[in-house]
Amino acid sequence: MKRSIATVSLSGTLEQKLAAVAAAGFQGVEIFETDLITFPGRPREVAAIAADLGLAITLFQPFRDLEGMPEPQRSRAFERMERKFDVMAELGAPLLLLCSNCSPLALPDRPRLIADLHELGERAAARGLKVGYEALAWGRHVNDHREAWALVRDTDHPAIGLILDSFHSLARRIPSSSIGDIRAEKLFLVQVADAPLLEMDLLHWSRHFRCMPGQGDFAVADWAEAIWRTGYDGWWSLEIFNDRFRAGSASGVAQDGNRSLLALADQVARRPRPPLVPAMPPPVTAERMAFIEFAASHAEAAALGEMLAALGFRAAARHRRKDVVRWTQGAINIVVNSEPEGFAHSFDIMHGASVCALGMVVDDVAGALTRAQALGVPRFDQAVGPDEMDIPGVRAVGGSLIHVIANGHEDAVWAHEFPLPIAGAATGQPLGLTSIDHVAQTMSHEEFLSWQLFYVTLFAMAKTPQVQIADTLGLVHSQAVESPGKGIRITLNGSQSGQTLSSRFVQHYFGAGVQHIAFACPDIVAAATAAAANGLPVLPIPANYYDDIEARFGLDPALVATLRAHNILYDRDGEAEYFQVYSRAFARRVFFEIVERRAYAGYGAANAVVRLAAQARFKPPPA
Ligand code: MG
Ligand code: MG
Repeated sequence: MKRSIATVSLSGTLEQKLAAVAAAGFQGVEIFETDLITFPGRPREVAAIAADLGLAITLFQPFRDLEGMPEPQRSRAFERMERKFDVMAELGAPLLLLCSNCSPLALPDRPRLIADLHELGERAAARGLKVGYEALAWGRHVNDHREAWALVRDTDHPAIGLILDSFHSLARRIPSSSIGDIRAEKLFLVQVADAPLLEMDLLHWSRHFRCMPGQGDFAVADWAEAIWRTGYDGWWSLEIFNDRFRAGSASGVAQDGNRSLLALADQVARRPRPPLVPAMPPPVTAERMAFIEFAASHAEAAALGEMLAALGFRAAARHRRKDVVRWTQGAINIVVNSEPEGFAHSFDIMHGASVCALGMVVDDVAGALTRAQALGVPRFDQAVGPDEMDIPGVRAVGGSLIHVIANGHEDAVWAHEFPLPIAGAATGQPLGLTSIDHVAQTMSHEEFLSWQLFYVTLFAMAKTPQVQIADTLGLVHSQAVESPGKGIRITLNGSQSGQTLSSRFVQHYFGAGVQHIAFACPDIVAAATAAAANGLPVLPIPANYYDDIEARFGLDPALVATLRAHNILYDRDGEAEYFQVYSRAFARRVFFEIVERRAYAGYGAANAVVRLAAQARFKPPPA
């Protein structure tokens, strides 16, 4: 796949954008007119910078309101076009994007549109240039790629072709099967964007909410597959208008863009009768969480240990040579790393005691690492002692790690790496916790889509619809990614508002990270009773909440009294039920949750507002 990106997708100056595009691995770049106009040098200097970076200039855009204009606007539009051809010649851009006309003056006269496109073709051909015609979803008379294609086909000029843009077609729900009618040699370029499904004005949706393929809700892979089936082998160019990306880092957004196109090609290559051959191993199937690793100094590890003991965990064993302790309960493993050097120590210095790594059980470790490499996800390796096992990892959210362990090898790893039992360790009553239900990661608003893309491209994970949760001090966006058997569930949370708990976490933590860990249990009341006996500090829930759920769900007052006595939150979805208890935060950073699911698939979004308000009561007063 020949990968390109429009400069309008990125933040920064034109020079910064071009450098980021090249560094991310794109071969081509679309120059957006505004970026050229604001560049303090000649177009030929831009051409030289791109050439030095090894970037082809794929397109110059946009040109608006040409076809179907009455006089004198028509003549003026062609004069304007000739000036742009001068710029393109100096820039070395071979192709111009012509947007379908949005002017209220535009005429719906089809022979006239074809005559104008033909004249345009003659003028472009005289300069050795080409023009691609794109149907804007809000074009005045042409707003559907089927109509644009019919005009291009009937104009029948070698310098006039079609540009397809997934946003304009998919936002209008135009069937991708219609792409089969387009002849590949007349398709000059394709522009790729995804978007969340929103009910809003098309222009506003397009200018602010586009995102990378895979980050939104459009059937971009179906659309791309239809294009590949035509035999098209030209540029695939990202054209992403998104306020978050304009506020984010150009290099980060460019890397995500490149990753998204590679993953799109891979997705199409794995279809039943693929038009492509996969270039990397398949998405990684992660079965379950093998362990969660905390980085903590000795002092912090003692405090964390008290919390884990109150949650019913047992300090089971020490690492064979490192200052690392394994805590267990049910099938859950928590590893507390107090090594005085190495990755965990650096992580602790940076963030304070917190989750520095997740261990995932996968079906194919080598395949996972190769796919990560192909998607530009950095590998992590740390020195391994002569008698230690290498548990490979990749860099993940906020510089934390994801380690991968082969399915079936876990017991051998624990037995070999943690052979030293801890005798007589103080412990509380077990809570009956069985597994890690979900891990909640919090990040800045700008990084949110980046981490969502990381999970859905590297792993076989599906994303749930994005929900907005009302914090006492602003809105938080939340979305989960889930492995096929739901053995791994990760919720991602980001907030634009600076005072939400999410944002304060990111500020206090110095970056993105794990904010809470939820453990599953089969009996929430028994777990909560044991937690109380162990002295677990639980988040108190206001009595008003219980009056509300009793009325809202028509609950048995005796059940409500039990829930109230244990600060258990409740949600119901049809017949499915969900019970949650939250601990207070450890070191004002990480907190724990205990859940009981009765066929319930979500995360208690309706209760998040209650939880956030309860936590806000513990916010320290301003210094
Ligand atoms: Mg476009
Ligand atoms: Mg949760």
